[in-house]
Amino acid sequence: MIKALLDGSIKGVGKLHKTPIFPCGIFQCMKGVNRDPGDPNYDLFRLALKSTAKRLYPNYANVDWSGNAGYDRNDPRTYFSTMGCRTANGWDINGLGQLKDGRGNICPVTIILPTLAMEAKEKAIDDYDTDLIDIFMNILDEAIHDAKDTLIERFDWICSQDPASAKFMWENNTMAGYIPEEGPRSALKHGTIVIGQLGLAEALQILIGCDHTKPKGMELAKLIEQLFKTRCAEFKEEYKLNFGVYYTPAENLCYTALKKFREKYGVIHNISDKEFFTNSMHVPVWKQISPFDKIDIESQLTGYSSAGCITYVELESTVGKNIDAMETLVNYAMDKDIPYFAINVPCDTCLECGYTGEFNNTCPVCGSDHIQQLRRVTGYLTGNYTTAFNYGKQDEVHNRVKHTGYME
Ligand SMILES: [Zn+2]
Repeated sequence: MIKALLDGSIKGVGKLHKTPIFPCGIFQCMKGVNRDPGDPNYDLFRLALKSTAKRLYPNYANVDWSGNAGYDRNDPRTYFSTMGCRTANGWDINGLGQLKDGRGNICPVTIILPTLAMEAKEKAIDDYDTDLIDIFMNILDEAIHDAKDTLIERFDWICSQDPASAKFMWENNTMAGYIPEEGPRSALKHGTIVIGQLGLAEALQILIGCDHTKPKGMELAKLIEQLFKTRCAEFKEEYKLNFGVYYTPAENLCYTALKKFREKYGVIHNISDKEFFTNSMHVPVWKQISPFDKIDIESQLTGYSSAGCITYVELESTVGKNIDAMETLVNYAMDKDIPYFAINVPCDTCLECGYTGEFNNTCPVCGSDHIQQLRRVTGYLTGNYTTAFNYGKQDEVHNRVKHTGYME
């Protein structure tokens, strides 16, 4: 069945063999099952890579990820998996352990880190006895507590909804653990409640003048992520709800938050001089580094998140056709304990003749300018990015460097 799905994905949809935007395919990599030549399902891994090269899907979930420890090797429902964009369920404090099926993210809140960094800087002017980083960490801690309060209020509100409003879902056991006499809370308490973040790179730039691609930036990044993780673990125990750290996709927020920031603080070099804030803790898309370096850096932070993250690299279309190179990259990411990994290859399709490749506006075969340009916005693809993305994300796409240009 997996073979049929991958064959279908490679073939494409319809007369022109277009790349389908949905469903988002996720291939689960597992040692001893499909990682190495000689593993029983290695052929499927190769087929998956072939599909990714052409269609951007599937993405790769790491079943051996250390963050999913305690799963049951005999029960695939406990294997690490994500919703396509990145959200994931960690260990359930209310009895379902590492079960993934029938659980989901219930509600998110995202903390905009660059704004907090600016507030800390302003405060440091009056409070010159206190270290800027200490001031920032206190402000962040307060924001994390505010996020928790907001989430609990929302969670209670969602739980108070009449099950009749989603009758089909409740009657068909879509959600694990549902007990009709107890209402929606009996199921929703197994879901995940997430505290997300946006713009770690820009916040570090404000605070110490460099981001986490430098050792000094990484040191502070870890301190920040540890605070998120510690607080979520405390809240989880205290409220018996699955609080988790979330590396937010921020499809729209990347732009709206930037606009508000700029209204208040103006254009600041390296911080607000683009039309977006950098996604969660990602390496800024314009950094000229190799895909291996990008994986090395982000893999130092992905372990702080239990509620979902994604790492992706940008490849040239030529490298995208080299399945061996792609296999090396996916294996490298898995071995670095990256939980969820995706590869971006340019995917333009001529809607007149069906030709695919990277050619942006005009088909090199028939000259048509009726082109579908697919790019990844989160873990998902979005239709033609020049119309389906907001201005911030379009600018981000234009700023993305191809990491393969920086391979030694
Ligand atoms: Zn054409």
